[in-house]
Amino acid sequence: MHLVRFKHPSSGTPTAGSLIGSSVQAEGEVFSLDDVKLLPPCVPTKIVCVGRNYADHAKELGNTVPEKPLLFLKPPSAVIGPEDAIVLPISEEVHYEAELAVVIGKRCKNVPAADAAGVILGFTCMNDISDRVAQRWETNWIRAKAFDTSAPLGPSILSLDEASEPFHVTLRLNGEIRQEGWTSDLYFSIPVLIETISAIMTLEPGDVIATGTPAGVGVLNQGDIVEVAIDGIGILRNPVQ
Ligand code: MG
Repeated sequence: MHLVRFKHPSSGTPTAGSLIGSSVQAEGEVFSLDDVKLLPPCVPTKIVCVGRNYADHAKELGNTVPEKPLLFLKPPSAVIGPEDAIVLPISEEVHYEAELAVVIGKRCKNVPAADAAGVILGFTCMNDISDRVAQRWETNWIRAKAFDTSAPLGPSILSLDEASEPFHVTLRLNGEIRQEGWTSDLYFSIPVLIETISAIMTLEPGDVIATGTPAGVGVLNQGDIVEVAIDGIGILRNPVQ
Protein backbone atom coordinates (compact mmCIF):
# COMPACT_ATOMS: atom_id res chain seq x y z
CA MET A 1 0.00 0.00 0.00
CA HIS A 2 1.10 3.56 -0.75
CA LEU A 3 -0.03 5.74 2.14
CA VAL A 4 -0.55 9.44 1.52
CA ARG A 5 -1.88 12.52 3.23
CA PHE A 6 -3.66 15.12 1.15
CA LYS A 7 -5.76 18.23 1.40
CA HIS A 8 -9.39 17.18 0.95
CA PRO A 9 -10.62 18.98 -2.21
CA SER A 10 -13.88 20.21 -0.67
CA SER A 11 -13.11 20.68 3.03
CA GLY A 12 -9.39 21.45 2.79
CA THR A 13 -8.81 19.17 5.78
CA PRO A 14 -5.62 17.10 5.89
CA THR A 15 -6.83 13.57 5.13
CA ALA A 16 -5.06 10.22 5.22
CA GLY A 17 -5.58 7.87 2.31
CA SER A 18 -3.94 5.56 -0.11
CA LEU A 19 -2.58 6.12 -3.58
CA ILE A 20 -3.76 3.61 -6.16
CA GLY A 21 -2.40 4.30 -9.64
CA SER A 22 -3.33 7.90 -10.36
CA SER A 23 -6.13 8.12 -7.82
CA VAL A 24 -6.26 8.80 -4.12
CA GLN A 25 -8.74 6.89 -1.95
CA ALA A 26 -9.91 7.82 1.53
CA GLU A 27 -12.95 6.77 3.56
CA GLY A 28 -14.95 5.57 0.56
CA GLU A 29 -14.13 8.60 -1.60
CA VAL A 30 -11.93 8.49 -4.69
CA PHE A 31 -10.18 11.50 -6.17
CA SER A 32 -7.94 11.94 -9.17
CA LEU A 33 -4.37 12.65 -8.12
CA ASP A 34 -4.57 15.75 -10.35
CA ASP A 35 -7.34 17.20 -8.17
CA VAL A 36 -5.64 16.91 -4.78
CA LYS A 37 -2.69 18.58 -3.13
CA LEU A 38 -0.45 15.94 -1.57
CA LEU A 39 0.90 16.79 1.88
CA PRO A 40 3.97 15.33 3.57
CA PRO A 41 2.97 11.65 4.02
CA CYS A 42 3.51 11.66 7.80
CA VAL A 43 3.61 14.16 10.65
CA PRO A 44 6.86 13.50 12.52
CA THR A 45 7.62 14.75 16.02
CA LYS A 46 11.27 14.60 14.93
CA ILE A 47 13.43 13.57 12.01
CA VAL A 48 16.54 11.70 13.01
CA CYS A 49 19.17 11.89 10.30
CA VAL A 50 22.22 9.73 9.81
CA GLY A 51 25.37 11.32 8.39
CA ARG A 52 28.15 9.62 6.41
CA ASN A 53 26.36 6.29 6.11
CA TYR A 54 27.57 5.52 2.58
CA ALA A 55 31.36 5.16 2.32
CA ASP A 56 31.52 6.81 -1.14
CA HIS A 57 29.70 9.95 0.10
CA ALA A 58 31.79 10.20 3.30
CA LYS A 59 34.89 10.11 1.09
CA GLU A 60 33.70 12.78 -1.38
CA LEU A 61 33.46 15.36 1.44
CA GLY A 62 36.82 14.30 2.90
CA ASN A 63 35.38 12.25 5.77
CA THR A 64 35.46 8.62 6.84
CA VAL A 65 32.55 6.48 7.97
CA PRO A 66 32.21 7.00 11.75
CA GLU A 67 32.58 4.20 14.32
CA LYS A 68 29.01 4.72 15.51
CA PRO A 69 26.10 6.20 13.51
CA LEU A 70 26.55 9.98 13.26
CA LEU A 71 23.16 11.42 14.25
CA PHE A 72 21.53 14.82 14.01
CA LEU A 73 17.96 16.14 14.15
CA LYS A 74 15.68 18.16 11.95
CA PRO A 75 12.57 19.71 13.57
CA PRO A 76 9.00 19.16 12.31
CA SER A 77 9.05 22.77 11.06
CA ALA A 78 11.60 21.75 8.40
CA VAL A 79 9.17 19.40 6.67
CA ILE A 80 7.60 20.18 3.30
CA GLY A 81 5.68 17.92 0.92
CA PRO A 82 5.84 17.03 -2.75
CA GLU A 83 5.90 20.06 -5.10
CA ASP A 84 6.46 22.48 -2.19
CA ALA A 85 9.29 24.96 -2.72
CA ILE A 86 12.68 24.56 -1.08
CA VAL A 87 13.55 28.09 0.04
CA LEU A 88 17.31 28.49 0.02
CA PRO A 89 18.94 30.17 3.01
CA ILE A 90 21.44 32.94 2.23
CA SER A 91 24.40 30.75 1.35
CA GLU A 92 26.41 29.96 -1.73
CA GLU A 93 26.57 26.27 -1.07
CA VAL A 94 23.26 24.57 -0.31
CA HIS A 95 23.30 20.92 -1.34
CA TYR A 96 20.72 18.24 -2.13
CA GLU A 97 21.05 14.79 -0.50
CA ALA A 98 18.76 11.99 -1.71
CA GLU A 99 17.89 9.58 1.09
CA LEU A 100 15.68 6.63 1.93
CA ALA A 101 13.51 7.60 4.90
CA VAL A 102 12.13 5.03 7.34
CA VAL A 103 8.76 5.97 8.86
CA ILE A 104 8.04 4.64 12.34
CA GLY A 105 4.66 2.95 12.89
CA LYS A 106 4.39 2.72 16.65
CA ARG A 107 5.68 4.26 19.85
CA CYS A 108 8.83 2.43 20.84
CA LYS A 109 11.97 2.55 22.96
CA ASN A 110 14.98 0.20 23.23
CA VAL A 111 14.11 -1.85 20.17
CA PRO A 112 16.65 -4.64 19.50
CA ALA A 113 17.83 -4.77 15.87
CA ALA A 114 16.20 -8.19 15.49
CA ASP A 115 12.77 -6.67 16.28
CA ALA A 116 13.16 -3.48 14.20
CA ALA A 117 10.74 -4.59 11.47
CA GLY A 118 7.95 -4.58 14.07
CA VAL A 119 8.12 -0.80 14.51
CA ILE A 120 8.44 0.24 10.84
CA LEU A 121 5.34 1.59 9.08
CA GLY A 122 7.10 1.90 5.73
CA PHE A 123 9.49 3.90 3.57
CA THR A 124 9.45 7.21 1.76
CA CYS A 125 11.85 9.61 0.00
CA MET A 126 13.62 12.48 1.72
CA ASN A 127 15.91 15.23 0.52
CA ASP A 128 18.29 16.25 3.32
CA ILE A 129 18.87 19.85 2.23
CA SER A 130 22.19 20.99 3.70
CA ASP A 131 24.01 24.32 3.92
CA ARG A 132 27.69 23.36 3.62
CA VAL A 133 28.96 26.83 4.54
CA ALA A 134 27.22 26.68 7.92
CA GLN A 135 28.11 23.01 8.30
CA ARG A 136 31.83 23.80 8.11
CA TRP A 137 31.88 26.17 11.08
CA GLU A 138 28.96 24.99 13.19
CA THR A 139 29.37 21.78 15.20
CA ASN A 140 25.71 20.97 15.89
CA TRP A 141 24.49 21.67 12.33
CA ILE A 142 21.30 23.55 13.34
CA ARG A 143 21.84 26.33 10.80
CA ALA A 144 23.21 23.82 8.29
CA LYS A 145 20.45 21.24 8.45
CA ALA A 146 17.38 22.39 10.42
CA PHE A 147 16.14 25.46 8.55
CA ASP A 148 12.59 25.74 7.17
CA THR A 149 12.01 23.62 4.04
CA SER A 150 15.17 21.56 4.62
CA ALA A 151 13.24 18.29 4.89
CA PRO A 152 11.16 17.55 1.77
CA LEU A 153 9.31 14.23 2.34
CA GLY A 154 7.09 12.05 0.15
CA PRO A 155 5.26 11.52 -2.05
CA SER A 156 3.87 8.39 -0.35
CA ILE A 157 4.86 5.81 2.25
CA LEU A 158 5.37 2.36 0.81
CA SER A 159 4.13 0.01 3.54
CA LEU A 160 6.65 -2.44 4.95
CA ASP A 161 4.67 -5.51 3.83
CA GLU A 162 5.04 -4.49 0.17
CA ALA A 163 8.63 -3.25 0.35
CA SER A 164 11.43 -5.19 -1.25
CA GLU A 165 14.93 -4.18 -0.16
CA PRO A 166 17.43 -3.03 -1.17
CA PHE A 167 16.09 0.22 -2.59
CA HIS A 168 17.63 2.03 -5.54
CA VAL A 169 17.95 5.73 -4.65
CA THR A 170 18.41 8.33 -7.39
CA LEU A 171 18.60 12.12 -7.42
CA ARG A 172 17.82 14.13 -10.54
CA LEU A 173 18.63 17.81 -10.85
CA ASN A 174 16.76 19.49 -13.70
CA GLY A 175 16.25 16.03 -15.21
CA GLU A 176 19.91 14.95 -14.99
CA ILE A 177 20.95 12.07 -12.74
CA ARG A 178 23.38 13.29 -10.06
CA GLN A 179 23.21 10.63 -7.36
CA GLU A 180 22.61 6.92 -7.52
CA GLY A 181 22.96 4.35 -4.77
CA TRP A 182 21.61 1.14 -3.29
CA THR A 183 20.51 0.89 0.32
CA SER A 184 22.45 -2.40 0.48
CA ASP A 185 25.50 -0.10 0.72
CA LEU A 186 24.30 1.55 3.95
CA TYR A 187 27.19 1.17 6.39
CA PHE A 188 24.86 0.99 9.40
CA SER A 189 21.76 -1.04 8.43
CA ILE A 190 18.19 0.06 9.14
CA PRO A 191 17.78 -2.42 12.07
CA VAL A 192 21.05 -1.18 13.62
CA LEU A 193 19.91 2.44 13.21
CA ILE A 194 16.57 1.73 14.89
CA GLU A 195 18.31 -0.07 17.76
CA THR A 196 20.80 2.78 18.20
CA ILE A 197 18.30 5.64 17.98
CA SER A 198 15.57 4.01 20.08
CA ALA A 199 18.12 3.44 22.85
CA ILE A 200 18.53 7.24 23.01
CA MET A 201 14.99 8.50 22.54
CA THR A 202 11.40 7.29 22.33
CA LEU A 203 10.25 7.07 18.72
CA GLU A 204 6.67 8.05 17.94
CA PRO A 205 4.37 7.04 15.07
CA GLY A 206 5.23 9.20 12.06
CA ASP A 207 8.78 9.87 13.18
CA VAL A 208 11.33 9.64 10.39
CA ILE A 209 14.82 8.19 10.21
CA ALA A 210 16.75 9.51 7.20
CA THR A 211 19.33 6.85 6.42
CA GLY A 212 22.09 8.87 4.72
CA THR A 213 23.00 9.83 1.18
CA PRO A 214 25.14 8.21 -1.53
CA ALA A 215 27.89 10.06 -3.44
CA GLY A 216 27.18 12.84 -5.91
CA VAL A 217 25.88 15.65 -3.69
CA GLY A 218 25.94 19.10 -5.24
CA VAL A 219 24.69 22.67 -5.23
CA LEU A 220 21.08 23.82 -5.60
CA ASN A 221 20.26 27.12 -7.26
CA GLN A 222 17.07 29.16 -7.47
CA GLY A 223 14.89 27.87 -10.30
CA ASP A 224 16.17 24.28 -10.11
CA ILE A 225 13.83 21.31 -10.01
CA VAL A 226 15.15 18.57 -7.75
CA GLU A 227 13.77 15.03 -7.61
CA VAL A 228 14.50 12.13 -5.26
CA ALA A 229 13.35 8.92 -6.95
CA ILE A 230 13.26 5.56 -5.18
CA ASP A 231 12.15 2.55 -7.18
CA GLY A 232 8.93 1.11 -5.78
CA ILE A 233 8.23 4.21 -3.67
CA GLY A 234 7.89 7.16 -6.03
CA ILE A 235 9.35 10.51 -7.01
CA LEU A 236 9.64 13.43 -4.60
CA ARG A 237 9.80 16.56 -6.75
CA ASN A 238 10.46 20.07 -5.42
CA PRO A 239 11.18 23.42 -7.07
CA VAL A 240 13.94 25.58 -5.56
CA GLN A 241 13.24 29.19 -4.62
MG1 MG B 1 22.11 13.46 4.81
